[in-house]
Amino acid sequence: MNRRSFFGVSAPALLPLLGGGKASDFLPADKPIVISTWAPNVKANAEAWKVLQAGGAALDAVHAGVQVPEADPDDQSVGYGGLPDRDGKVTVDSCIMDEHGNIGAVAGLEYILHPVSVARMVMEKTPHVMLVGYGALQFALQNGFKKTNLLTDKSKKAWQAWLKESKYDPQATIKNIEQRIKENHDTIGMLALDANGNLSGACTTSGMAYKMHGRVGDSPIIGAGLYVDNEVGAATATGLGEDVIRICGSHAVVELMRSGLTPRDACKAAVERLIKMRGRDRVAQTQIGFIALNKKGEYGCFSLRDNFTMALRTKEKEEVIPSPFLM
Ligand code: ASP
Repeated sequence: MNRRSFFGVSAPALLPLLGGGKASDFLPADKPIVISTWAPNVKANAEAWKVLQAGGAALDAVHAGVQVPEADPDDQSVGYGGLPDRDGKVTVDSCIMDEHGNIGAVAGLEYILHPVSVARMVMEKTPHVMLVGYGALQFALQNGFKKTNLLTDKSKKAWQAWLKESKYDPQATIKNIEQRIKENHDTIGMLALDANGNLSGACTTSGMAYKMHGRVGDSPIIGAGLYVDNEVGAATATGLGEDVIRICGSHAVVELMRSGLTPRDACKAAVERLIKMRGRDRVAQTQIGFIALNKKGEYGCFSLRDNFTMALRTKEKEEVIPSPFLM
């Protein structure tokens, strides 16, 4: 399989970005820096970069960055155009965390184009940290967000095709992920270190395709899909949310960095923790992947299986780093 079919995007568009996972990819980068889960999110990084380059805050950078796939109808695992749940409803999950430990999240939210903005509003304008379902929608509408139909024709057709078999099999995640990579997208988790040395992160998704209505994955859960500790570093996750939640994945990665591991080794140790806890048989059909960034600007990623990628943007480079993996 060549790089073109691997990433499912045109070679000319991507080849200059490919880093190949050289040792130098994991050396400290000058501030500012932004990293995201998955190759196509070079576009999201570019948006975040505009904020960082202008001396803006990491929080504003990740907020602006993750809005790119949220609004992209071709991205069928985030926001508008996301694949629906098994009842045909597109429900989105999102969270955001800043350098002060401020957090906000929404889960099972329908009809809102930018769930990350609602999550930020939960963080900034309420005494709470998470709103779900109808309550989250009510809050969004009361605060000026407009109702948008997130189900595109393309995703509706995919759901109708799925309905013929209606095979609800969350374990088929590897297949889902290979399919998603071919289609060039997945959940976005984004981490940034700004020029002032502050860290923030955001994570946003439409979650697992054809999930049960009401299912919430790791992505909006602080500690699972995202964690930021401004003293140490930040981490975010993608893959089978149930398995990321099981190990409080992103929090685990940050704590492993606190104990002295590099971002890459911390991500690897979290993946190993899942295997140790569950045994190889139970993780035989799943994929999880982490990316992490520490206070020094060192970054890294690691996944359970092949095919995970991290998108990176610094002053010197814009590239896609294929993740090292265990199985
Ligand atoms: N982590 C997301 C979820 O479980 C999906 C993904 O990243 O593929 O909802």
